[in-house]
Amino acid sequence: MFTRDIGIDLGTANTLVCIRGKGIVMREPSVVAYEARNDIVRAVGTEAKEMIGRTPGSILAVRPIKDGVIADFDVTAAMLKKFIKQALHGSIFTRVRVMICVPVGVTEVESRAVLNAAVQAGVSANNICLIPEPKAAAIGAGLPVEESAGCMVVDIGGGTSEVAVLSLGDIVTAQSVRVAGDKLDEAIINYIRKTHNMLIGERTAEQIKIELGSAIPFEGEGSMEVKGRNLVDGLPKSIVITAKEVREAMQDTVSQIIDAVRLTLEKTPPELSADIIDRGITLTGGGALLRGLDKLMSDETGIPVFVADNPLDCVVLGTAKELEKTDFTEDRHYKKYRHY
Ligand code: ADP
Ligand code: MG
Repeated sequence: MFTRDIGIDLGTANTLVCIRGKGIVMREPSVVAYEARNDIVRAVGTEAKEMIGRTPGSILAVRPIKDGVIADFDVTAAMLKKFIKQALHGSIFTRVRVMICVPVGVTEVESRAVLNAAVQAGVSANNICLIPEPKAAAIGAGLPVEESAGCMVVDIGGGTSEVAVLSLGDIVTAQSVRVAGDKLDEAIINYIRKTHNMLIGERTAEQIKIELGSAIPFEGEGSMEVKGRNLVDGLPKSIVITAKEVREAMQDTVSQIIDAVRLTLEKTPPELSADIIDRGITLTGGGALLRGLDKLMSDETGIPVFVADNPLDCVVLGTAKELEKTDFTEDRHYKKYRHY
């Protein structure tokens, strides 16, 4: 039978799929729009994301993965099924073997949910294995994880920031905090509500963060027009918000991410700490793109910080590399996922 090995980065914000020998074949937001009445899926990915906050009561546009873990099992399974099908161009008779990333620190129940979602999406349980996200991120960022020297990766996604120190191919110490891109968006929403008496949607908040957001002041920072609902009279309203305001709004959340890095450094065995001073910290995930975050983190920790090339792709690229090495023999995935 025709076999396809695929790697899936099932993220809170985005799902990426790679195929062994082909590279990345799909990048889509982890969003599903379905009919409330009968659960029929109307759209997944980009199309569904456009619908968030704009649906009538009969349609729900949701992100089934929250804080890095599955919040809505059936919807996640439906989404996964669509994505796998899309990635394979509908060649449903192919046997698929899948490697899926899970955040560090997930419970047995949470990782089993990921496994079961893949089973429900049509993949045989024997052909699934799980890999911890920061390990995949480090491999995908090109860090020399197999060496007997420490390297540190910080993957900042939508729901979680995962901080890990790796050596000899595995995680030595890691920390996962549920503070990442979504919390930055929320902070912007709260700020605009409090200071401008205006309510904005989460899509708008994300756009503000991407266009104007920064961790430290930057050259040529400006302002932008933002539209939403006036909380006083309920009418549509537009305001101008500055980069400085956005930075202030996100300040506490950014500090929490940096605190997680500091905490992990404190728990790192000294020999590896020494390696990290030499090699620096590598940032991956969409949150790594926040302007000046590398500089701020470096100032706060005293360690050089680098943003990986294509930070949004690191986890799935690492999965692709791991896939090359994995032999899906019996029982392997059970042994593997018990660790996480
Ligand atoms: P996940 O792994 O949880 O799916 P991703 O690694 O795909 O997350 O990153 C998505 C997050 O990165 C979102 O919160 C998104 O808003 C954020 N993001 C994407 N681009 C930028 C940018 N240029 N600046 C700041 N945040 C960004
Ligand atoms: Mg991710």
